[in-house]
Amino acid sequence: MTDYRSVRGMVDILPEDSFLWQQLEGVMATVLQHYGYREIRLPIIEATQLFSRSIGEVTDIVEKEMYTFADRNDDSLSLRPEGTAGCVRAVVQHSLQQTVQKLWYQGPMFRYERPQKGRQRQFHQLGVEGFGVATPDLDAELILLSNALWCDLGVKDLLTLEINSIGSPQSRALFRKALVEFLSDHHGALDDDSQRRLETNPLRILDSKNTETQALLVGAPALTDFIDDESSDDFAALLEMLNAAGQPYVVNERLVRGLDYYNKTVFEWTTKALGAQGTVCGGGRYDGLVAQFGGRDTPAAGFAVGLERLVLLLRGLDAHTPPQTDIYVVAADAESQLHALPRIEALRRVLPQQIIQTHLGGGSFKSQFKRADRSGAHFALVYGESERSSESVTVKPLRSDAEQVTLPDNQLAAFLAQAFAGKNGE
Ligand code: ATP
Ligand code: MG
Repeated sequence: MTDYRSVRGMVDILPEDSFLWQQLEGVMATVLQHYGYREIRLPIIEATQLFSRSIGEVTDIVEKEMYTFADRNDDSLSLRPEGTAGCVRAVVQHSLQQTVQKLWYQGPMFRYERPQKGRQRQFHQLGVEGFGVATPDLDAELILLSNALWCDLGVKDLLTLEINSIGSPQSRALFRKALVEFLSDHHGALDDDSQRRLETNPLRILDSKNTETQALLVGAPALTDFIDDESSDDFAALLEMLNAAGQPYVVNERLVRGLDYYNKTVFEWTTKALGAQGTVCGGGRYDGLVAQFGGRDTPAAGFAVGLERLVLLLRGLDAHTPPQTDIYVVAADAESQLHALPRIEALRRVLPQQIIQTHLGGGSFKSQFKRADRSGAHFALVYGESERSSESVTVKPLRSDAEQVTLPDNQLAAFLAQAFAGKNGE
């Protein structure tokens, strides 16, 4: 028999972790709603061309990271490696860009990369996108919204905002030319990857982790010297808004981002707590993408958060304990179990916040109590013959020295509601 394992880089999220994910997703949904962003749910599979055209033919993602296959009709499809392309496709397809749109989505993305801590082949992103606003107030709102996420999740102190402007496509072309001229003169000193990128995607060389290449770049032409007036005015206005909001940032003139569709503002939130996988969130403006997909010219900006990296940060905080069973129901025999069933269903409806487990699978009183104890429950509810005949229930405290009490059925809910009032924060 084959030993089945999950596919390399594709990870199960087990119950002890899913709790943390639910917390994270709850905070995200609340903050996004608070800022007036609405959820859009998108397919995981799209036409391959959607990604190659928007992200760029010579980017890492499209060159070597996509899961691409032909379906039974021989159409080339890909598992989405990111969410912006699909979101823009949906906006154009449904003509949503007629009015300003503030959208978010969340879910799995797929990239064929070398798996390591904070880097998987199936991973999850939260994407937030704004359409129809050309002014940098949208960029500022997106940044402040991401900051609000970190605040509400308790990871704000671990993250730094890095920000840059990469200008218009025209100014970038001029810079690209100057950069290629400079680097061609130093071709031999470049690492292999950078030599290859010199032909295909020279701006990405600025991102190189190679120390010799980095040293060489100190003397390279600077993107800032080529930036058009409009981009630099918008960047100044954005920084002024961030200053007004008291939002700290670091201008990083090296920041270029790996996808082709960006222009003007780009930003990343980085942390020192995750080693090489230090970027938790990245985004920027992509004013040309809607028109490129056949929609009316519509400015846009957005960002994506890597949720695995956020979960790693949250786990480091250690302040997250999963909820435990509150009440465990024990029955002496089959008849008592039948007697308890409707009563416990009714109890669940009047105590919606409590976790109430009934013992399943029978067994001796002793073994049932052992399970009750292990569940972490505060109380065991016991139904036996005497409880049945007197329409009552025995409540046994499991986490205190208090005596057990036998209550009439109609007093149970009030007793437990009172007992859990403190825990429920009432
Ligand atoms: P990196 O430089 O770490 O590869 P990237 O620039 O390729 O990141 P983006 O395409 O901007 O990443 O995606 C936004 C965020 O999604 C990243 O900042 C990161 O937090 C997360 N992310 C990207 N790729 C992965 C992956 N393979 N596994 C887990 N998270 C990822
Ligand atoms: Mg990457």
